[in-house]
Amino acid sequence: MAWTLYRPDAATIWEDAAVRKRLGWYYAVMKNKAPAKFHIAARVEAPADYASMDGAELWKVHEELGRAFDEEWLRQKERPDASVVERRLPRASLLDVKIELARRQLRRCNLCERRCGADRSRGKGACLLRDRPTVASFFLHMGEEAPLVPSGTVFFTGCNFRCAFCQNWDISQRPENGAEVTPRQLALIQIKLRSEGARNINWVGGEPTPDIPFILESLRELAARRFNAPQLWNSNMYLTQEGLSLILHVMDIWLPDFKYGNDACALRYSVAPRYVGVVSRNLSAICRRGEDVIIRHLVLPGHVDCCTRPVLRWIAENCPKALVNIMDQYHPDYLVSTMAKYADINRPVSEKEMREAYSYADELGLIWRPVS
Ligand code: SF4
Repeated sequence: MAWTLYRPDAATIWEDAAVRKRLGWYYAVMKNKAPAKFHIAARVEAPADYASMDGAELWKVHEELGRAFDEEWLRQKERPDASVVERRLPRASLLDVKIELARRQLRRCNLCERRCGADRSRGKGACLLRDRPTVASFFLHMGEEAPLVPSGTVFFTGCNFRCAFCQNWDISQRPENGAEVTPRQLALIQIKLRSEGARNINWVGGEPTPDIPFILESLRELAARRFNAPQLWNSNMYLTQEGLSLILHVMDIWLPDFKYGNDACALRYSVAPRYVGVVSRNLSAICRRGEDVIIRHLVLPGHVDCCTRPVLRWIAENCPKALVNIMDQYHPDYLVSTMAKYADINRPVSEKEMREAYSYADELGLIWRPVS
């Protein structure tokens, strides 16, 4: 399949030893040399009566099966065996348990740290979403980080944040700007994108967290079809521990945002309480597991001292093996361009601010050049 490379470095990025080392699992899945993690999860056998268990019991089963998954995943990391994709599926699996737990969240949703508890079968959650996924668009994205391009990107509508400078506000804050799809259609979208040359399936929005139940169901469909596709989580990482644990065993590479270095800025610009504690907790969990990760940090004008420096320092101290994309593409959009109360960030980031961010990253020893 021929495609235009808007990032020529996408063709050469794998010659970079640091990138190869840090994204080794993703690379193996991308090349179909290893099974995507959801294929492993779909083959960790679960008790046949899992659906009749109460919540506490089912979470306990999930935890136990998660340990079995980790053992198999470690084996796979050492010696990848893509033939897993062809193996018979058990009657019930870790993936089925995840789907059951995620489906139950739709009746009292605590997938993200808004913890609004909405019954999404009756009305919208704080993310503006009900119990059906709405996709605004899907396509091969050529503007993502070099190891990801072309990226089979699926844009959901709705979001649990209210970023004043959101560049996707027409879908994040307007959930009606898309088409409702079924999990089966989500699976078919993945097959189409991967068949057209996508290196990965990139779940984004808005924010993909509210759509975890449907993503998981689509993966069961892919497992049954024996179709391999690396899964990428492109998110604000404002998940609860429960929400994160549901996707922990199915995402092959993580593309989290870490925007703010303090809670006051997060509250002011994104209406996201307890931001630093939540995001750092989730990132720590990912990094401790040795997952493949590219952390994105968008430099905001006037926020190098209060946000950029503490974020980069936290990454150096807690996720030193992560690749970091220090992003310079902020531009005033959405509410920032019209409301006087955001005048302080109603300008692009200056070259001086970017130089300061890059040089601080170098001082900390972060690896950011290949993916920024
Ligand atoms: S994803 Fe978050 S905001 Fe949306 S319904 Fe669930 S808890 Fe509420």
